[in-house]
Amino acid sequence: MKIKILHLYPDLLNLYGDKGNIECMRKRLMWRGIDAEVLTYTCEDTGFDLSDADIVFMGGGSDREQKIVCHRLLEHKDALGSYVEDGGTLVAVCGGYQLLGKYYKLEDETIKGLDILDIYTEQGKKRLIGNIVLQSDFIKEKIVGFENHGGRTYIGDYTPLGRVVYGYGNDEKSGAEGVVYKNVVATYLHGPLLPKNPALCDYILTNAIKRKNPNFEGLSPLDDTLEKTANEYIVNRFKK
Ligand code: GLN
Repeated sequence: MKIKILHLYPDLLNLYGDKGNIECMRKRLMWRGIDAEVLTYTCEDTGFDLSDADIVFMGGGSDREQKIVCHRLLEHKDALGSYVEDGGTLVAVCGGYQLLGKYYKLEDETIKGLDILDIYTEQGKKRLIGNIVLQSDFIKEKIVGFENHGGRTYIGDYTPLGRVVYGYGNDEKSGAEGVVYKNVVATYLHGPLLPKNPALCDYILTNAIKRKNPNFEGLSPLDDTLEKTANEYIVNRFKK
């Protein structure tokens, strides 16, 4: 089996090195003897093919970068929408997360989103910056990370990725962080999201493999002692 990972626009959407998450997915597959092929598409490329994609990844970027990317992305609105409805795995971080919704409203203009999820984002007065810890229904361990966003995302009745234990989350007030819809995982957690949260990485990989092979019985365990120790250290550091 070979898992095909599409990395969209790392030339612009790569704040805090979000692209390291690709390497994490590739390595955790490889350590289980599963091949992975990574295809990278920049804004210079004319298009991408989702027909045999297993995982699509989009990182975060500044407002300026999001504006550039949005035009390119909108060319693939229908294809990405069908991919998601068909159970395709999509991981979107921060700016990428915001672009999945209807729009991202800035002070003086509005960036159009893909409208794949019925959510929207509005810029707030102060930026929400800092470490963040979540309790999630999707994995046993707490999810730890770092957030830095001016936008507040309103997810309505969708299921969040987790509840905020420490930090701001989607909109500073609701206590929700990120969104999970079918096999979409979208979150404000930047940078080494998956290396810091190997169980979340495996959750995402399992979804992608099961779509390809419904009889798949699950990933074999890896020795994540170091990763788990680091994760617990952060959880304890920000315990209230
Ligand atoms: N530009 C968006 C915001 O500030 C997303 C930023 C990001 O990806 N960190 O809300």
